[in-house]
Amino acid sequence: MAQIYGREKLVGQITAEEWRTGRRAGLRPWLLTTKSREVAERASGLYQGEVACAASGGDLHARKLYAEGIAVIVASVANVRHRLALESERGLVHACDGSRSLPPMPDEGQPCGCPDDPFERKAAARAGAGPRPDARVIFRLAAAPGLGELSFQSSAWQFYESLESVSHKVKRTGGPVQMELVLREQRLATRSGLDVSFAYPDVHSVRRLPVTQAGLHLAA
Ligand SMILES: [Zn+2]
Repeated sequence: MAQIYGREKLVGQITAEEWRTGRRAGLRPWLLTTKSREVAERASGLYQGEVACAASGGDLHARKLYAEGIAVIVASVANVRHRLALESERGLVHACDGSRSLPPMPDEGQPCGCPDDPFERKAAARAGAGPRPDARVIFRLAAAPGLGELSFQSSAWQFYESLESVSHKVKRTGGPVQMELVLREQRLATRSGLDVSFAYPDVHSVRRLPVTQAGLHLAA
């Protein structure tokens, strides 16, 4: 029972933005938003979900999901978006892979003008002068493929970088493939001696699946 979510027939979306804190926190949640009560309840059952009150309301169900990793099935490379993008009030003004313009830019394939140095690229993005990661995968939950397709989107550099090798593998092997969305945590000491925890989403372990196993034609 797919419902229209945005312009695509997605049954919901999952997010997990980067965060940092001065102290060690517990496992951070993923956030699921869906218009389908069934999707909210099944996903909650699978990943220790709890209602996220602030984001729920109207016909939107929001759940915090507690899992280090979520195994997902991606049907094909068309379901992977891996680009750097900059938007203004006019809409999308820059889309590239770090060195060349990507569709739908009119100068597709031409050098885009971004700095070669990744540090400079990140600094430009932070200043709002350069494009930021715009990474997205559309998938089915490996544990419940019949629920329909969801999206995961992130602007974290770590996710963008991990998706790079994954998207090459998906291109090479074709779909469907199984991969795992993971929340990583990294601890580091700042120059001022503060102990800081970082968490960020990451994607890994691509495995090609036979089409039947991917459950692509299962009814919800
Ligand atoms: Zn660029």
